[in-house]
Amino acid sequence: MPSPLKQQYEKVLSRLQHACQVAGRNQDVALLAVSKGHPATAVHALSALGQRAFGENYLQDALAKIEQLKSLDLEWHYIGGLQSNKTRAVAEHFSWVQSVDRLKIAQRLNDQRPKPLPPLQVLIQVNIDDEPQKSGVASADALSLAAAIDQLPRLNLRGIMGIPSADVEAATTQQSFFRLKALYDQLSATYDQIDTLSMGMSGDLETAVAAGSTMVRIGTDIFGPRQYAQKARPAEGSNSL
Ligand SMILES: *Cc1c(COP(=O)(O)O)cnc(C)c1O
Repeated sequence: MPSPLKQQYEKVLSRLQHACQVAGRNQDVALLAVSKGHPATAVHALSALGQRAFGENYLQDALAKIEQLKSLDLEWHYIGGLQSNKTRAVAEHFSWVQSVDRLKIAQRLNDQRPKPLPPLQVLIQVNIDDEPQKSGVASADALSLAAAIDQLPRLNLRGIMGIPSADVEAATTQQSFFRLKALYDQLSATYDQIDTLSMGMSGDLETAVAAGSTMVRIGTDIFGPRQYAQKARPAEGSNSL
């Protein structure tokens, strides 16, 4: 009997493959496994099935997992809210940050990225539905933030990330994804190295791929429901602490 994790992982891989086929795309959509709320043992088990890129929101939990699993060649993405007091640890321990939404944070990450490491791979988080409680730069300010980040030598701007409003109709989510795609196209027309449009989660993977996502971030449908050690966690979707 295959393990539930293996079954769930294979189901997500085949959904992704099918979504690419339906959208008439090559298999060019990366899968980020979002392991927040799951132990290092679960990450280890998934890496044994071939998954390499993992996303984390909660810095302290993430640092513990990264330390425990440092013998594996994993690629860690920070996808949570970023305040100044977190930038050093993120710059030191992650390969990617998907949640950069202001210049001050970008400058700190740039200054704190250790010299022996390659540049930090960065996505700008865009607050695509202009939700007051959510992280992310306003769409109207995304291109000027990109221009400033592009000047920072220790950061490599790769694209944008967005999280549409929760609990809305599929058609509304689709509109949000289209707006993210339009912004991404503007960005990639300006900078050569832009190649990542991070959008789509467990509930809207297919919609996101149809709209042009190049990276989906999947937690629940791979690992199952999240179990937290401590209780008080921020609301899902508002990826801030
Ligand atoms: C938790 C989270 C995900 C994964 O969401 P699921 O619905 O569990 O797939 C993706 N992206 C971000 C930014 C998250 O915070």
